[in-house]
Amino acid sequence: MKVAIIGGGISGLASALAFERYGITPVVFEKNGHIGDPVLFTSAILHIFNHFKSDPFKHLKKKYNLKLSPSSSIKRIAMYGPTEQVTIEGNLGYITNRMREGTSINNQLSSKLSLSVEFDSLVDIDDLKEEFDHILVATGNSVIPKKLDLWEDIFNTHFRSATVIGHFDTQSVSMWLNKDYAKNCSAYLIPISSKEANLNLVIDNITAREIDYYWEKFLSSEKLDYKIIETRDSSFNCGFLSRHQKDNIYLIGNAGGFVGSLVGLGQIKSIESGILAADSIVKGIDYDKLINPFVQDMKKFYELRMLLNTFTNQDLDRLINLLKKPTLKKLIYNNPLFKVKYGASIAKIYNFLNKVKNP
Ligand SMILES: Cc1cc2nc3c(=O)[nH]c(=O)nc-3n(C[C@H](O)[C@H](O)[C@H](O)COP(=O)(O)OP(=O)(O)OC[C@H]3O[C@@H](n4cnc5c(N)ncnc54)[C@H](O)[C@@H]3O)c2cc1C
Repeated sequence: MKVAIIGGGISGLASALAFERYGITPVVFEKNGHIGDPVLFTSAILHIFNHFKSDPFKHLKKKYNLKLSPSSSIKRIAMYGPTEQVTIEGNLGYITNRMREGTSINNQLSSKLSLSVEFDSLVDIDDLKEEFDHILVATGNSVIPKKLDLWEDIFNTHFRSATVIGHFDTQSVSMWLNKDYAKNCSAYLIPISSKEANLNLVIDNITAREIDYYWEKFLSSEKLDYKIIETRDSSFNCGFLSRHQKDNIYLIGNAGGFVGSLVGLGQIKSIESGILAADSIVKGIDYDKLINPFVQDMKKFYELRMLLNTFTNQDLDRLINLLKKPTLKKLIYNNPLFKVKYGASIAKIYNFLNKVKNP
């Protein structure tokens, strides 16, 4: 069986590993000359957004025999609204390293592989159709799913990630919600070490040229004067797919739409979708059936996203105030069974009523 994987990111590498375990050596094409994310240096996993009940790393080990390690736990999240703020403490999630060097998730995956990735290979499905029996699209973007007419945009974002110097607690993450500079998205800080952090701003529905304006507004509004040593910009669109398989082509990771539209988390689902696509091909199981629970989760996040889009800055402050209530804090953050997606049914009713009121 000849299998091609387009993209050497976390979904493509996880899929390649799953194929190798079945005794099949796929060809992994990566457009860059290296493994590791060119934009993200660190990223977060938050338990309340997970689709399973246990710890995500234990889940990967138990379900797929895949041992991966985060770089740190998240014990504190400081949330800043336009005027209100709250700090939440507990076992909240993990920070993962996404850099080229060291023990990044990408490097952990690639070190388990026997195959060599084909670097500097920018390919398209048309280049591979004749030669391969199955093609997995792990490109991290919507270009190929759009070309296949499978993709529907939810929203488009521009993203600035800066490496900043300062003093950081490696177990604390900060998040800012403010319509004035993030519109319907957010800004957040994830430490790389006690001396460096990634400061990120995500804004929806702006042009690439406007990002400087919103970035300056963010830094000045929040009075952030970290020394910035590098900035990296990218764009990203979040979307739904009508199907995740078309003929012998399978969409995994971000290209499969497995990024939650609420706050953009999707690492674990990306890894799992890659493994499940390999299972589907080797065992002859319908891929769309295998990944249906993820799709249902994405729909729930979408309802919550639609609700958040209607919020004003005052509403964001109210939300922060609500999170200050000790009983709610305890219920939400220190309860491993509480998941954000459970709020989706209420959001669905609210969104429906809102549509009826404002057609
Ligand atoms: C800006 C941003 C921030 C995010 N932050 C988080 C976070 O904090 N926590 C979280 O859980 N999730 C986060 N996500 C969600 C995301 O699911 C994961 O971070 C993860 O990177 C998705 O893996 P992937 O393999 O689909 O894509 P990627 O990791 O992007 O990998 C895609 C790879 O394909 C290569 N490629 C692209 N096109 C081609 C081509 N034509 N030919 C060959 N190679 C190609 C690229 O160079 C890249 O190496 C974020 C996503 C984005 C976009």
